[in-house]
Amino acid sequence: MGEFELIRHYFFPIAEAGHTSAVVLGPGDDCAIQQIEPGRDLVFSVDALVEGVHFPPHYDPEKLGWRCLAVAASDLAAMGADPVCFTLALTLPDADPDWLHGFARGLASAAKHFGLALAGGDTTRGPLTLSLQVHGTVPRGQAIRRSGARAGDYICVSGTLGGAGAALDYLGSDNPGADEQALLVRYHYPEARLDLGVALRGYASAAVDISDGLVADLGHILAASGVAASIDATRLPVSAALKRLAGEDAVNHAMNAGDDYELCITISPQAWESLPEDIRGRLTIIGEVKSGEGLAITHNGQSQALAAGGYDHFRT
Ligand code: ADP
Ligand code: MG
Repeated sequence: MGEFELIRHYFFPIAEAGHTSAVVLGPGDDCAIQQIEPGRDLVFSVDALVEGVHFPPHYDPEKLGWRCLAVAASDLAAMGADPVCFTLALTLPDADPDWLHGFARGLASAAKHFGLALAGGDTTRGPLTLSLQVHGTVPRGQAIRRSGARAGDYICVSGTLGGAGAALDYLGSDNPGADEQALLVRYHYPEARLDLGVALRGYASAAVDISDGLVADLGHILAASGVAASIDATRLPVSAALKRLAGEDAVNHAMNAGDDYELCITISPQAWESLPEDIRGRLTIIGEVKSGEGLAITHNGQSQALAAGGYDHFRT
């Protein structure tokens, strides 16, 4: 199968299935065309995933298809953007039909689930690498940035933390138990919190998605906003499965492990009170923004030394 047949066979059907009127022209021409409604901003981001760095060697292609789009979509969620479309630059060592079939299946289900239409891409030969550009839109000026946190704001996170990172220990496990399975699902099938991000538009003062660990990613908000924060380790939401498996260590996973793709936001107490009940129910208050700089971690009110954490590709 030649390059163009491959693209037509595996990827054009995904584009057709996800067709949306905002993508005026999908794959097949030199560029795709996206129509932006008047009064909206285009919000876009690109993410690269390299085999052996962002996913294990010989990783299941169907899971990779889901995961690559979920992690890219998560950046749109953090900005409060409505998802629209994406492009995929795929570098493959060879055109293995089984691999492509599995990958396309995972990608198609993620595209449908996240409401992102495949608008185009590029297919080349080389070490397995995926780059996905995702496009979303927001009403003009309403994207949630990292720089809006103010002293006195609450710090909140969605869902539970630490599970996906803790699952790395079980990736090679032949016969994982129910708790291990629950964590593995968090790693293999991350959810981008797109609907939550949209619901937080106009309420959250800042937001980031947790890809590298809470401490690292909250740190980006603090740096961009020029503020400090304190968080209470005992308040971090942790799943029952992680508690059973990791015991006391669960809180360290929740603090430092990456790959959860939950949202960390800041929000003023007034905005918190006016948030719809169901949205508040999806968030846990874990701390408070302060003036100054740095992140203080308390444990039942006692201050605690901060373990350096979070994933940084260039840290030596
Ligand atoms: P060009 O050479 O003009 O960059 P290509 O020959 O690389 O175009 O691609 C032909 C068409 O197929 C383009 O419209 C491109 O968007 C689309 N395409 C290529 N690879 C993919 C892919 N993996 N998924 C979806 N569309 C793709
Ligand atoms: Mg061209």
